[in-house]
Amino acid sequence: IGLQIQNIQDKALRVHCRIRPFLPGEDQTSTTIEYVGDNGELILANPAKRGKEGHKLFKFNKVLGPSASQDEVFKEIQPLIRSVLDGYNVCIFAYGQTGSGKTYTMTGPENATEKDWGVNYRALNDLFHISRSRRDTVMYKVSVQMIEIYNEQIHDLLGNSGLENRSVGATALNERSSRSHSVVTMHIQGIDLKTGVTLRGALHLVDLAGSERVDRSAATGDRLKEAQHINKSLSALGDVIFSLSQKNAHVPYRNSKLTQVLQNSLGGHAKTLMFVQVNPDVSSYAETLSTLKFADRVS
Ligand code: ADP
Ligand code: MG
Repeated sequence: IGLQIQNIQDKALRVHCRIRPFLPGEDQTSTTIEYVGDNGELILANPAKRGKEGHKLFKFNKVLGPSASQDEVFKEIQPLIRSVLDGYNVCIFAYGQTGSGKTYTMTGPENATEKDWGVNYRALNDLFHISRSRRDTVMYKVSVQMIEIYNEQIHDLLGNSGLENRSVGATALNERSSRSHSVVTMHIQGIDLKTGVTLRGALHLVDLAGSERVDRSAATGDRLKEAQHINKSLSALGDVIFSLSQKNAHVPYRNSKLTQVLQNSLGGHAKTLMFVQVNPDVSSYAETLSTLKFADRVS
């Protein structure tokens, strides 16, 4: 048991950095990602500074390069996801600026075929599949929830009111998706039919709001309010994960809706994985640096 607990704590937070490929129309001749190693190393190059000073080395649990397939990305986290069936609470986040591939990783591209499916579909599919295959020995009860947190307000996207919301504002929802957090939650309860032992686990799949700095001098009204809410909740998330990594006695869960919603699945014996999404292009250098620094601080 001692060994097992050690193992759990070592793996309480993992960070996988994913670099998206260049998109059609982007200038592919220069990138800020200078080097990607097999052991999770990444070197970021500052386009304005040459030599040693302009290069910064980051190390994560894994770096997924531009050619990594959705299947590869999922395979790396499949054991983590399956631990939900052993009674763990698992949180998977996608963090990064708008356009860095968060939704691609979590959901997939629009009109995705099965091979392009993101983590969400694959995870739900996998867990349903396993629970079905064990139905002679374990009875599983599964519930799925989907919420959106926008301007520190929680909207249920699957409930009755959600249906109404969706038909009224599908375009509006889509439009503001980069300024809201979306959280898909799967609760699983497994009852061993022989012993009656019950295990409860939860999986949270979180597509975070874009982390880009909004120019405060330019933003006014609604955009300014949105930007302030996003800044507040992303830094609250960073603070919670950081204080967990420092094993602080006080963890500031109450500072944002996002951390309140996820409180039971962050810390304790819960497991967290963050996809840190970055763009490859030179013009994203400043945002990429800030994204990598965020991940570096919490990991
Ligand atoms: P975000 O959710 O962070 O704003 P998106 O997931 O919408 O970013 O990605 C922006 C664009 O890049 C989309 O057109 C998406 O299909 C594309 N894209 C992102 N990641 C990849 C990838 N790994 N492979 C191919 N296209 C990608
Ligand atoms: Mg998105």
